[in-house]
Amino acid sequence: MNIQKLTKKIRNRSLNKVKSKSLEELSASWYQDDVLYEGKGKALFIILPTIGCSWALSKSGGCTMCSYIADSVLREVPAEDIINLFHDQLKKHSLEEPSAVKIFISGSFLNPAEMPAEARREILKTLGEMKNVVEVVLESRPEYVNPEIIRECCSFLPQKILEISIGLESVNDHTREIKINKGFSLKDFEEAVNIIKDLKSELEVKAKTYILVKPILTSEKQAIKEAIDTALYAEKIGLDRISFTPATIHKGTLIEELWHRGSYQPPWIWSIIEIINQVRKIVKIPTIMDTSGFGTRRGPFNCKKCNFKLKQAIIDSNLNQNLIPDFECECKIKWLAETKLFDINRSTTRIKY
Ligand code: SF4
Ligand SMILES: [Zn+2]
Repeated sequence: MNIQKLTKKIRNRSLNKVKSKSLEELSASWYQDDVLYEGKGKALFIILPTIGCSWALSKSGGCTMCSYIADSVLREVPAEDIINLFHDQLKKHSLEEPSAVKIFISGSFLNPAEMPAEARREILKTLGEMKNVVEVVLESRPEYVNPEIIRECCSFLPQKILEISIGLESVNDHTREIKINKGFSLKDFEEAVNIIKDLKSELEVKAKTYILVKPILTSEKQAIKEAIDTALYAEKIGLDRISFTPATIHKGTLIEELWHRGSYQPPWIWSIIEIINQVRKIVKIPTIMDTSGFGTRRGPFNCKKCNFKLKQAIIDSNLNQNLIPDFECECKIKWLAETKLFDINRSTTRIKY
């Protein structure tokens, strides 16, 4: 069975089991410390439900590690409802200092089939009128990035930075196409980045990429190397910022199937530290390491003694953009053995379909 048929099969099975939630239950927001282009600051994160990621809904089944589709309503959401949800979330916070606002729709904000144009315009217009909003961060697959839509988005955001985040995940074609099922080439990605770069002479627009740490069927050693190679590539082609997302086990995904069968483990936190310290030495653009799920059963882990201390060290290093200081724990020797001696995944159980 090829990767798309397999992913689609798993996706359909899991979506049949998902309990439907209301739009209100699926929307959320929080305000926290973050790194802005101008330095340390605050960011307001807003999650808005939509029909769901078009790639995940297509016959491809979507990306092998992602279950954001389960946070979507799988039916068209009228622009008016999205606008109301956005205002409801915005009302919960007072932005008392210069802040970034990051809108997550579990898919592509620039895809009108997911985020209706009317809602997109109203959201950006509102943010454009807020004095303390200095950056607006949106996510999109590359196929929805075009000069017209970027120009229109920026027209609502005078004197503010617009950042478009595109998940490349890996510079390695085999990893991106076969292990992740991302569905786009490096050429597609570079075309989207070039559109953004070309507009920089007239607009305050920037490009960020997400890099997945340890896709399926990847050893710890390969995972470290690919994440670093991808960061070097991202800087080389002109990205403004990098966000690493270490794999966590999302429900209803191929990664979860492999994990259940003992054929996949999320990365060690030691590997994450190795990546961030190496990258901060050789890459000049800001880099953020997402720490979601660290130390949990479904996330990156070391041992109970050091998981949370190291998670905090990574959060601090995100804010300060510095190296993570040396740290010792008895579990480190196991990680060293795995990365230095073996080039295999932490389990070798065969999967049968
Ligand atoms: S990672 Fe992005 S493109 Fe892939 S399925 Fe998830 S939301 Fe869609
Ligand atoms: Zn430990």
